[in-house]
Amino acid sequence: MQTTTISLTFNPMIVVMKNTATRDMVDRVLAVIEAHELKGEPMFGTQRVAIGVLGDKDRLDEGHLLRLPGVKEILRVSKPYKKVSREYKPENTVVTINDSVQFGNGTPVIIAGPCSVESEDRLLEIAENVKKLGAHMLRGGAFKPRTSPYAFQGHGLEGLKILKRVSEKTGLPIVTEILSVHDLEAFDEYVDMIQIGSRNMHNFDLITKVARLGKPMLLKRGMSATLEEFLLAAEYILNEGNDQVVLCERGIRTYEQSTRNILDLNSLALVKIISHLPIIADPSHAAGRYDIVPQLAVASLATGADGLIVEVHNEPDKALSDGKQSLTFESFDKLMARVSNLIQ
Ligand code: PEP
Ligand code: MN
Repeated sequence: MQTTTISLTFNPMIVVMKNTATRDMVDRVLAVIEAHELKGEPMFGTQRVAIGVLGDKDRLDEGHLLRLPGVKEILRVSKPYKKVSREYKPENTVVTINDSVQFGNGTPVIIAGPCSVESEDRLLEIAENVKKLGAHMLRGGAFKPRTSPYAFQGHGLEGLKILKRVSEKTGLPIVTEILSVHDLEAFDEYVDMIQIGSRNMHNFDLITKVARLGKPMLLKRGMSATLEEFLLAAEYILNEGNDQVVLCERGIRTYEQSTRNILDLNSLALVKIISHLPIIADPSHAAGRYDIVPQLAVASLATGADGLIVEVHNEPDKALSDGKQSLTFESFDKLMARVSNLIQ
């Protein structure tokens, strides 16, 4: 039997270059790193140029790197997650959808739409209205991860095609959830931002394969995942070379039964400190009821969220999923009025 040696040491160091360092100096550091059979990942920020060194750190003597021209200092990432940490990259990552929408640039992004894609007419009506009321992107599930096998499972591929057509008519980019690696090609073709839902946050096979498409991703927090597990799931995506990841706090399960989940505002605030990735809030799935969604939306933006994803339906009482937590156009309008000073 063949045996493989796996290095469990993964404590990347970061070589921070001086402001005056030239491109040649950066290349020289990279060459030294590679000569030691390590991987160097340069990050050209506006505040600093830094090089992440990945691999077995014992292969390379810090002193050797420090003596190279242009090197300012060597830092070590002490957290279990590495590339998603602010230690690794101090600047905010900006995630761009279709050159038009940006998460993480300081202005929150509002995503709105139904829980599920039901019919083309209905989706178009919802999309036109949420757009008129100020939404920047459209949501809607085509493949639905329903708790009960007897509940509406979504229109699948046909749902993706409907989303695409509605997106073309309204100009709103779309985000929708993928459930299986079998659908990668279709998502690549029809979808602007691919959502990994709460139930799949731990599905690392799906996450890594989606990440390899290189498309922007919306990673929702597992309903029972700790913040560290959540960030480690994002680390899988960055490890595939895709940094276009928006995190989503959608509420966690606790002993409290009076609402569907508890929106973890602590984590929302903390992520902005410990990670460079944008994070948005989903007050709809956190609340499970429409009448507290606007309050949670305001609280999330006040906490520093980079945006919101909100369920809106033209007839919530007829919705095929999550009608109880869906806002009418009228209540979405009121929500937008309440957050308008926060999204300018
Ligand atoms: C959704 O956004 O449609 C959804 C199913 O949410 P979650 O994965 O957070 O439950
Ligand atoms: Mn829903």
